[in-house]
Parts: sequence; C-alpha cells; structure tokens
Amino acid sequence: MKKGFFIVFTASFALVFLFVIQYFQYEDGKLHIYICDVGQGDGILIKTPNSAEILIDSGPDKSIINCLSSYVPFWDREVEAGILSHPHADHFTGFIDVIKRYKLKSFYTNSLGSDTQTWKILQDQIAEKRVSAKYLHSGNYFSEKNSLRLKVIWPNSDFNSIKDQKISYSDINSSSIVILLSYGKFEVLLSGDAESQILSAIQNEIKDIDVFKVGHHGSKDALSDSLLYSLNPEVAVISVGENNKFGHPHKSTLDLAKKHKVSILRTDKDGTIHIVSDGKKWWVK
Ligand SMILES: [Zn+2]
Repeated sequence: MKKGFFIVFTASFALVFLFVIQYFQYEDGKLHIYICDVGQGDGILIKTPNSAEILIDSGPDKSIINCLSSYVPFWDREVEAGILSHPHADHFTGFIDVIKRYKLKSFYTNSLGSDTQTWKILQDQIAEKRVSAKYLHSGNYFSEKNSLRLKVIWPNSDFNSIKDQKISYSDINSSSIVILLSYGKFEVLLSGDAESQILSAIQNEIKDIDVFKVGHHGSKDALSDSLLYSLNPEVAVISVGENNKFGHPHKSTLDLAKKHKVSILRTDKDGTIHIVSDGKKWWVK
C-alpha cells in the first residue's frame, strides 16, 4: 500500500468516526442547556430538540468559544439566535468572537446600548456581517413545534421605547431580558442580571419552576424569601468567576437558597453545567 493513500485513508476514517460519535452525542432530540464556565459573566448555550443553537449572553471574553466548540458538532457553523440580556461587557463581549467564527443569524437585546469601545466593535461586526438585529420585550417568544418555548417576560415594551436615557449601572441590570423557557413540563427561568426586586414584580407569571439561573451572579439582592416561595426551584445555578472582585455569590444569597432547600450549582466550582430534558423528565449531566 502506498504511504500517501494510507494517510488519506486513515484521515478519512477518523473524520467519519468523529462524525458518527458527534452525531449520536448531539442529535438526540432532547433539549440541552449548557451554563458555560466563562468566568465572571454569563454565557448560556441552548441546543434545542430540533438542533438549533440559541446563545443567551456570551461571557466577558472569547472563552465562550470553548463552550461552543465542545458542545456544537464540528459541521454545524450556524448559531440561530444570540440573545443579549443587557449591555454589560461580562455578557456581550464574547459575541464578537462568536460572530467571527460562526454564522450568527439573528441578534436580540433591549434598546439600551452602551457607549464603550467594545460595544462599538460588536455593533460594527453585526452591521458588517449583516446579522439581523431586533429589540425584545415582554410578550415576544421563540418556539419550536415540539413545544419548546422561550417566553420573554421582562422588560415591558415601554422600557424599550425609552432610548438615550441616563441609566445607572444597577438599573441596566434591571433592564435584563428575563426569559421563561419551557419544554413540556420542564421550566427554567433565565434572568440575566435582574435581581429579586424586578423578579418579584413579575413573579405572578412564574410559579414552581425546575431550574433558576440566579440573577446577577448571586449578588446580595439576587434572591428574596417571597421570590423563592413563588418560584420554588429545585436547582439554582449561579454563573460566577472564581475569586471575583465583587464577592459574588454573596453569603446571604447562598444561605437563603439553603434555607429554601434549593440545590446550588456554581460555574466557578462545578465548571460548565449541563442540563438535559426530554420534556417529561430532566437531569443534570
Ligand atoms: Zn453580569
């Protein structure tokens, strides 16, 4: 056998083998949620039962790419939707690299924007790659025929019509797009950096969920007694960087979750958190 032929044959076999492995690993018709370990920030990859990718926030740097290349099969170069909860760098910076390496089909956020240089780079990229960009507000939703639904429950449309207002850092957190994801009986609340004050105002719409992505990296005001009574989550996930300068997650927040017997998963301790559901049952992998 000629050497060149042998090398080509081995490489082709390896590629087919990788394809088969990844096909059965990723195309299983289930919902996969990855709360990616991106350090101090949020980056959440949702792989839908129909194999679409939705990225909610993208972390503070290019580390989101590690998460995408680990959990999106190598032949899939499209991300169907990017949703930015609010315009803070620990949530949007990674989108710059995502747009460079993947075809991001649409980008959604609230109307606030930012005057930082990093934000300008992202906006230039969105324009250059002609990514469709839209604002989201309560009442908007994404859905698939198989009963997966992402319903926006905050902010309301009045908020998005107020442009160029002077808004403080904590108010920008309050502008976070809050999404209730449901797939059959399985429900997850994704709250960006919105804290208990905002979530309490909309808690009538959200009762007895399964998983709660805690707002604002588990800050001091992330949770409250009444919010936890209402949401009654089984698992709370905190996306947070190791030894971060903000002291997140706050001890009182961890104590409150403990008091309500909510299990806590943290990206700084547990790495990327992978949750799977078939619409009836769900589990942490
Ligand atoms: Zn944040």
